Amino acid sequence: MRGRTAIVTGSTSGIGLAIARALAGEGCNVMLNGLGDPAEIEAARAAIAEASGTRIAFMAADLRSPEAVRALVARTVEDLGPVDILVNNAGVQHVAPLATFPDEQWDLLLAVNLSAAFHASKAVIASMTARRFGRIVNISSALGLVGAPHKPAYVATKHGLIGLTKAVALEVAETGVTCNAVCPGMVMTPIIEMQVADQARVTGLAPEEVVREVFLDNQPIRRPVTAEEIAGAVVFLCSPAGSGVTGTALAVDGGYVAR
Ligand code: NAD
Repeated sequence: MRGRTAIVTGSTSGIGLAIARALAGEGCNVMLNGLGDPAEIEAARAAIAEASGTRIAFMAADLRSPEAVRALVARTVEDLGPVDILVNNAGVQHVAPLATFPDEQWDLLLAVNLSAAFHASKAVIASMTARRFGRIVNISSALGLVGAPHKPAYVATKHGLIGLTKAVALEVAETGVTCNAVCPGMVMTPIIEMQVADQARVTGLAPEEVVREVFLDNQPIRRPVTAEEIAGAVVFLCSPAGSGVTGTALAVDGGYVAR
């Protein structure tokens, strides 16, 4: 994988940051993306570059905008070369019952969790098929495979991402380009900390009860999956060993969807 160019959206935090670190560790040059404190992001960028010896760039494109998604791809090509690996990881969550679910949160989740993956994939696909190599990995969720209450937009976008994965995989199946989804179970990251607070509000449980009874109760291994375990699955899909895997939704969920 040495010398491959990768984009990891939403890689300023959590799972995306672990994926960026792992791909850089395999020799990839990586474009980081996401929101957050510029000084913290620069420190993370520099640390990955130092540890991996590869080129690590950053662009704070706000993926709600299709123009920003296209600009992220264009900047990557300019700075690091044609995109070999695209990991659509950025994601947001909102927890509320359907009757009071805010319209603007529905639109936000659709834009960041689903439409951004469409626009980014669209922007890289011609170059990947022309070069007869490409890896698109969409970070869905265990909630891309099964439903959950109070998360209508999240469940819809994560199921949608698996549909997009299958459609793209089949369209380019004979070109050397693969497209897969990875479906994490519960990983302790900022998005989960926010959900714990939201669930506590909706259910009336204390935050530690929410973690134990809502999140880990559904996860048979009874511990959070780690961001590094998700990154390992992404590295496998992007590696030569993953060449025959396309159109699949790989659950890395501690048994969540096996129940
Ligand atoms: P996180 O909140 O730590 O990271 C989300 C990333 O997306 C951040 O880098 C953030 O800056 C970025 N982002 C958010 N809105 C953006 C926007 N408008 N433009 C650009 N970047 C934006 O969360 P995480 O847990 O690391 O989640 C990463 C992915 O994994 C998400 O798609 C999430 O749905 C999925 N996932 C997480 C879990 C979990 O338990 N943590 C479980 C299943 C799936």
